[in-house]
Amino acid sequence: KTSNDSSFFGHPGGLQTLFFTEMWERMSYYGMRALLVLFMTASVQKEGLEFTVATAGAIYGLYTGAVYFLGLPGGWLADRLLGGKRAVWYGGLIIFAGHVVLAIDLQNLFFVGLILVATGTGLLKPNISAMVGQQYGDNDARRDSGYALYYMGINLGSLIAYLVTGYLQEGWGWDYAFGAAAVGMALGLIQYHFTNGSLAGASVEPANPFIGEAKRKAWMAVAAVIAVCAVVIVLAHTGTIVIEPVSLAQKVAIFFTLVFFLYFGYIYFKGNLNEDEKRRMWALLLVCIASACFWSGFEQAGSSLNLFAQNYTDRALSSGWFGMDSIPTVWFQLSNALFIIVLSPFFAALWINLSKRMIDPSYTIKTAIGIVFMATGFLVMFLASQYAAQGLKVAPMWLVTTYFLHTVGELCLSPVALSAVSKLSPKRFAGQMMGVFVLTYSIGNIIAGLLSGNFDPENVETLPALYMQIALFSIGIAIVIGLLSLRSRHWEKSGLSEKA
Ligand code: GLN
Repeated sequence: KTSNDSSFFGHPGGLQTLFFTEMWERMSYYGMRALLVLFMTASVQKEGLEFTVATAGAIYGLYTGAVYFLGLPGGWLADRLLGGKRAVWYGGLIIFAGHVVLAIDLQNLFFVGLILVATGTGLLKPNISAMVGQQYGDNDARRDSGYALYYMGINLGSLIAYLVTGYLQEGWGWDYAFGAAAVGMALGLIQYHFTNGSLAGASVEPANPFIGEAKRKAWMAVAAVIAVCAVVIVLAHTGTIVIEPVSLAQKVAIFFTLVFFLYFGYIYFKGNLNEDEKRRMWALLLVCIASACFWSGFEQAGSSLNLFAQNYTDRALSSGWFGMDSIPTVWFQLSNALFIIVLSPFFAALWINLSKRMIDPSYTIKTAIGIVFMATGFLVMFLASQYAAQGLKVAPMWLVTTYFLHTVGELCLSPVALSAVSKLSPKRFAGQMMGVFVLTYSIGNIIAGLLSGNFDPENVETLPALYMQIALFSIGIAIVIGLLSLRSRHWEKSGLSEKA
């Protein structure tokens, strides 16, 4: 089914299944994520948890970090025990259960719900991303544009999410808003159940399965880990273990980075890789480093850039549009999803066109270009914040321009990196390598949080320097990666035949 099928916008039918499953999963993820900090900081009168901003921020960082960190065991389970297709199904069920728990008793079961959602996402996210690539043959030129389409599904999901949960939260209350996420995931599961027959064979069985006794032992180990985690959760829930979110978040950032290098090294040295696979792993290392750097800048959207929207952007609406007198702060978040949806088809066509013309930019150079766009966005913020430093409120166009540049960067880097991981990883490690890659999201998210910690709304004159530093540092990294791409474009081709 992989090579000639072109039933979904010129792509294999399996892509349609994955597109809509991930769209609904992301709808539930972003819908809930958008509410988290608001709910945690809302007063008890408003039925919130009344946490401080620092605590809520740390929990938020730990949660988003954990979601992507769990992609590592999730990828391993798919490669060795479950196969991608089953991993996505069970992952979706666990996410659904988490949202239902949240909708039922938000006050008391808040952390239990979050843990379930994070666990399920760890099982679903890397594996569904790896399966997209498995719908294509090794040298199918449609792979990159397939990932671009898939990426559009992700953002269609987040767009629906912001609109729906934003509306429900204002008019109906927390339970309904969190409940909407459960409905979204349910739609994704139903859709997946009925259409997963179209998925290509590679995604069904584990790529590198345990057999016999080894399999039994592996399942026992999994059960033991789940049991230990359950005990820790119960102890934390009853207050026997006290967790201090802020300092924990800092330690976890370092821990995730260490795990990334250890796991990568483990696959490289202990994975019985041949010389070609090893060369491709070097190219992947560059792509992963670029990804972590990119998200460390980009993911400030929810924090430092959001605060900029709130405090230093002129959001007043003179004509009282739809009865509102100012643009809601969170609406600036929508611009990323909208730009992705508008620009994705253009990028999908661009990659196909370039490869037809034999100017096939390497994965690595595309990721370096992505970082340059991200940095340029921060240069725009450098200019905008100089007005803010003089006590002025700036026009919304400044932030929108930054988000536009960040989105162009995201499209050069993010779907491209997914495609690179699916193509260059040793096949036996497809799920795990996607897990390792998804770990760069969690590193990026946590670093973005730590960088945003330097944003001090009271000392606005320090802002231009902060944004300038981020821009310069990122450009430096992009230059290094760009230079290394001269070598890595050869590594990327190692052992993969040229003919399509
Ligand atoms: N928007 C992308 C996704 O949801 C990437 C998220 C991220 O933080 N890297 O898949």
